[in-house]
Amino acid sequence: MSSLAEYEPIVGSGAVEELRALAAHLAGKPVLMVNSTRLGGGVAEILNRMVPLLKELGLDVRWDVIEGPPAFYKVTKAFHNALHGKPEPITQEMFDLFLEVGRQNARRLALDAQFLVIHDPQPLVLVEKRTRRSPARWVWRCHIDVSRPQPQVWTFLKPFIRKFDAAVYSVPAFAQRLPMRQLIIAPSIDPLSEKNRELAPDDIAAVLRRLGVPQDRPIITQVSRFDYLKDPVGVIEAFRRVRRSVKCRLVLAGGSASDDPEGEEVLGRVRGAAKDDPEIHLLMLPPTSDLEINALQRASAVVMQKSLKEGFGLTVSEALWKARPVVASAVGGIPLQVKHRYSGLLVHSVEGAAYAAKQLLNNPAYAKRLGENGREHVRQNFLLTRHLRDYLLTFLTLGSSDDVLYLNGG
Ligand code: UDP
Repeated sequence: MSSLAEYEPIVGSGAVEELRALAAHLAGKPVLMVNSTRLGGGVAEILNRMVPLLKELGLDVRWDVIEGPPAFYKVTKAFHNALHGKPEPITQEMFDLFLEVGRQNARRLALDAQFLVIHDPQPLVLVEKRTRRSPARWVWRCHIDVSRPQPQVWTFLKPFIRKFDAAVYSVPAFAQRLPMRQLIIAPSIDPLSEKNRELAPDDIAAVLRRLGVPQDRPIITQVSRFDYLKDPVGVIEAFRRVRRSVKCRLVLAGGSASDDPEGEEVLGRVRGAAKDDPEIHLLMLPPTSDLEINALQRASAVVMQKSLKEGFGLTVSEALWKARPVVASAVGGIPLQVKHRYSGLLVHSVEGAAYAAKQLLNNPAYAKRLGENGREHVRQNFLLTRHLRDYLLTFLTLGSSDDVLYLNGG
């Protein structure tokens, strides 16, 4: 693992000093992070990098993951889609299973920290364990866009959410009307992780050879779980339009997350759309493929993220940090990362994505400038050190001792 001192050359010693100064007020404080998977997807990615550094800063941090049968993850995925506004049939049995598994986890986990950070809706039921007199502070860290949810699911979840001291969103537009304190904290990437560290051209070439992706022509890449909302089929359609006038290859690199049961079905559709096209490379990567993703992003002439809905979209910052030109949908947290025509190109359709990708492939100097601007934008805003600071400030704001009043009346 990287230590804090290693971030100084990237973000400056002042930023690291500030973290140490803030953390000194929280030394030894027990913090518990809970989410629904250790591997796969952006939340696990962030926790894997953040937890060791919070420990180095002196906080007593634990990270636990809720457990449940496959049927539970089908329910939580349906909730996820419904919260994003997608019509999903939701039954009483689904609500019952969500409650039952949540309560089993509440009995199994030691929910005894000073700060409990519950990530996303899957573990929400844990907050039932909150006792009125406890000085603990509960934070709901919502990574998804809940601004226009399907009402049935939102109405069911809201009583749990209201028990928290604060809700934290990635993007202001994701917020809901709620009676407690609401905070905005953008996610981040770790510049020193295996996924983002510098790689030599020979190492990149070796990985691409191993993955069977020739570097004989420009590569367009999208890295994403195989999920409808990431629109992999739309990426294939856009690629086919680009290829009519510019020779190129497409890489769709994805894997599954243990809390996402839809991956196989979506992959089937993607295979159908790719039709054994030799210039389309579908890569099913195991969840430990950080080096492979790093190399693929770095080898790309254009990185695409054509999501229909998005949380923050960490893959965008990952590509920008590598100074890659990005074509991405103007959804979720992507417009925070891609400032149109400054740090990438924002698009709204298959046609738009194809047009933007062609523009970048035909104008390498413009593409290079967007990539370089993107890297600086990420350095200023979306690196792990800024994220750590926001967490420390949140804990300090919510009060580190029991002499602070409950913000929502307990
Ligand atoms: N990712 C990965 N392997 C894959 C697909 C994605 O490691 O096969 C990573 C990707 O590099 C990024 C994270 O998973 O770090 C996805 O985060 P993002 O916010 O883009 O989307 P989410 O999956 O959370 O919706």
